[in-house]
Amino acid sequence: MPFLDVERLKKVKGERKRVSFDSDLSPIPVDGNEINLLKPAHFDLTLTNVGNAITVEGSFTVDLEVQCGRCLGNFVLSLSPDFSETYYDRSQPVPGPLREDWISFSGDTIDITPEVENAIILNLPMRFVCSEQCRGLCPVCGTDLNKKQCDCVQENIDLRMAKLKELLK
Ligand SMILES: [Zn+2]
Ligand SMILES: [Zn+2]
Repeated sequence: MPFLDVERLKKVKGERKRVSFDSDLSPIPVDGNEINLLKPAHFDLTLTNVGNAITVEGSFTVDLEVQCGRCLGNFVLSLSPDFSETYYDRSQPVPGPLREDWISFSGDTIDITPEVENAIILNLPMRFVCSEQCRGLCPVCGTDLNKKQCDCVQENIDLRMAKLKELLK
């Protein structure tokens, strides 16, 4: 789980530090399924103590194992979402107004897991397709058309076209 150590940082206003690290993530829940990571996520983040809060900005990279909606084959989807969140220490009185989108933490570490999961989910494409050129499965015989051509597709379309022409007469 990605944890940020802010023990020193949270004490000094204006303090800034850059961190790069790898961290495991649990499978990401999406539409009743779970998406697995093929390797730990890599983070490059800058933490800044802005006085009444700590900003965390940067990006991270994940390799997700997903299934192509056309050919049903598994493939690797790499994402590099931007990360930008602000955390405040709930055990300290916050000087100045609290912003609605700030997230609270307590202690010397910040667990950014929920925000990381959200950033992944927000950056997922509407549909998983292994490649724009993926030809998918034949709807009639199920042949993977990326690997082999079958005969039924063309015939089927011709048949439908013939019926349509018949109707239009
Ligand atoms: Zn595919
Ligand atoms: Zn076919």
